[in-house]
Amino acid sequence: MRAMVLHGRDQALRLEHLDRPTAGPGQVLVEIEACAICRTDLHLLDGELPDIPYPVVPGHQIVGRVVSNDLVGLPAGSRVGIPWLGYTCGACDYCGSGNENLCDAAGFTGYTLPGGFADYVCADARYCFELDPRLSARALTPLLCAGLIGYRALRMCGEARHIGLYGFGAAAHVLAQVLRFQDRPFYAFTRAGDEAAQRSARSLGAAWSGASTELPPRSLDAAIIFAPVGPLVPAALAAVRKGGTVVCGGIHMSPIPEFSYDLLWGERRLVSVANLTRADGIEFLELAAKIPIETQTEVFALEDANAALEALRTGAITGSAVLEIGGGSED
Ligand SMILES: [Zn+2]
Ligand SMILES: [Zn+2]
Repeated sequence: MRAMVLHGRDQALRLEHLDRPTAGPGQVLVEIEACAICRTDLHLLDGELPDIPYPVVPGHQIVGRVVSNDLVGLPAGSRVGIPWLGYTCGACDYCGSGNENLCDAAGFTGYTLPGGFADYVCADARYCFELDPRLSARALTPLLCAGLIGYRALRMCGEARHIGLYGFGAAAHVLAQVLRFQDRPFYAFTRAGDEAAQRSARSLGAAWSGASTELPPRSLDAAIIFAPVGPLVPAALAAVRKGGTVVCGGIHMSPIPEFSYDLLWGERRLVSVANLTRADGIEFLELAAKIPIETQTEVFALEDANAALEALRTGAITGSAVLEIGGGSED
């Protein structure tokens, strides 16, 4: 099978031909139809995640068809989504208290477990989500991380009504539709001068859009930071009201500059979101089908993964970059 493989920090992915994997106990072998690219893949390429077990096949927003299974409940031919959380121990305090996203022994798809920039992958069936086989594989992929992490970040905002979104990429594109569905006004913050992103936010119903250095027309009940940019933390704290929440949605962020305690004072809360739980996934995918969420995707071939990653890095992507890999046919 084809796979795009990362061999070390700051290297391009290399196209390689590997043996097709075999499903182990509790696993499914999945023929990959499409895999979306996430900013975390860039952090992986740049060596910004700890203890990367090279060589790695990245990719954790996988949609594909089950080819064979090791006596688990997902029959051959069924459509599955494989997200970032690929394994948890089930025995630690975190796993026992509904916080499996924080499990100390967790495995992550496309990082510590094989990922989706390939023709096939084996995954633990307990962490796969069943997906509608009638929908476009490509359109479903961004829901598996951009959508899920955005949704978990939103849950951290509690009952907040007026919500700021810092960074209007793949996650914000999905979350904007959830917010509109829930009738909660949202305010989109982009890089200064990024007219395209601001237009895109307004077309999805933003009450306001502008540069992240600006203050919105009213104080916010909560803000979610998707861009991995530390200086956005004090900027977002300055935009939320007393008692408001700022949620950091990324796995990595550049250093947060020193800021005055006044910005946090007034019972403002600053929290991060780490990974996802299976319960998040089930809840969010049901909601996504009900809305229904439409994703904006730009398609690349598997072999063009490096170009797709570079386009994401430079901000040239509206919505999500997706690798279209298999035909997705029934045979
Ligand atoms: Zn991701
Ligand atoms: Zn655990």
